[in-house]
Amino acid sequence: MKEILTDADVDTHCDCGASLEQTVETQRFTYGSEPGVELSAVVPVMWCRDCDEAWTDWRGEDARQSAVDAHLASLKKAGSGQ
Ligand SMILES: [Zn+2]
Repeated sequence: MKEILTDADVDTHCDCGASLEQTVETQRFTYGSEPGVELSAVVPVMWCRDCDEAWTDWRGEDARQSAVDAHLASLKKAGSGQ
């Protein structure tokens, strides 16, 4: 697992001023029209101990987009032989 907390674009402090803690979790989501296909992405989750709130940021969006791209690429590869 690569370290992502050192990313300069990542806000490591909550609005309340407390330092955020980061965990990483695998999120599953459905892509495409019903029934769709289930994809998963490993996304960093920021958590404020003081506020007891957790949220994902743009890196989560990036991770989901990467999962979609990989899915589309695999479809293309599978279809190219037909
Ligand atoms: Zn906070």
